[in-house]
Amino acid sequence: MSWQARFADTPDVLLSEQRRGTVVPVLDLAIGGDEFVTIAGPCAVENEFQLMATAQRVRRSGARILRGGAFKPRSSPYSFQGLGREALRLLARARRETGLAIVTEVMSPEDVPLVAEYADILQIGSRSMENFSLLEAAARSGRPILLKRGLVATIADLLRSAQFVLDNGNKNVILCERGIRTFDTTLRNTFDAAGIALLKQITHLPVIADPSHACGDRHLVPMLARIGIAAGADGLIVEVHPDPDNAMSDGEQSLDFAAFDAMMAGLEPWVALRKRCLDVVESSALQAMEAVG
Ligand code: PEP
Ligand code: MN
Repeated sequence: MSWQARFADTPDVLLSEQRRGTVVPVLDLAIGGDEFVTIAGPCAVENEFQLMATAQRVRRSGARILRGGAFKPRSSPYSFQGLGREALRLLARARRETGLAIVTEVMSPEDVPLVAEYADILQIGSRSMENFSLLEAAARSGRPILLKRGLVATIADLLRSAQFVLDNGNKNVILCERGIRTFDTTLRNTFDAAGIALLKQITHLPVIADPSHACGDRHLVPMLARIGIAAGADGLIVEVHPDPDNAMSDGEQSLDFAAFDAMMAGLEPWVALRKRCLDVVESSALQAMEAVG
């Protein structure tokens, strides 16, 4: 069966002669274009110093977008839930001071107007990937959507959620592979690099990799980042914290400033290689779409 037939219920997200290479504009950036874009910042916004220091440092290392959770989906109801509106204000200040664009998660449809007022990109978290009323509200805000793959979502499930955003009038969707749950619990999740390669081959949407949540271990993050780029990702989203051991969430997988700097410097040859491969990927992709496997 061809990929077109296999994903017949999500026709608008699939690559075709008419729909190729969607580029999502964010301030002066183009996600999914020639430039590789790194998003970096803390899992959660904790305080002014933590956010401002991180924003300055990740920008200096080459990040173009700042991440930071204001509303946090936590496994335990007793964990830190985020600073909410106060965090959004801090993110907006970081944007003013650094020029970095802002991405932050929105967890409920009621919060969409507030979060959309501050953020340049709305993040739909893994746990919300199939919250269709949230997807509808987020889509209708007009902000670009960073759609994270659900913990137990197949590629088809992810594409259905993306199609739903498109159906609600928003074509600026960025797909994100962030690791899935499998039988192997050695790492926090299982990084689906083949999923990135496939998404790049069969959809026209930008795809980014989240090496932080994919493994849950800061020592593996730079390696997974390279794998994501080699698989064809258009960008990365990486957790960075001034003092990971004392972070309020996801410290184990957060890089400190020096480690982030080293990772970014080490990525340069991989990013250059990716650029050289882009044309080859595009020409083989259309053929792959029509091939009957
Ligand atoms: C996050 O980005 O901090 C986050 C909660 O991600 P995910 O939804 O992928 O778990
Ligand atoms: Mn996190």
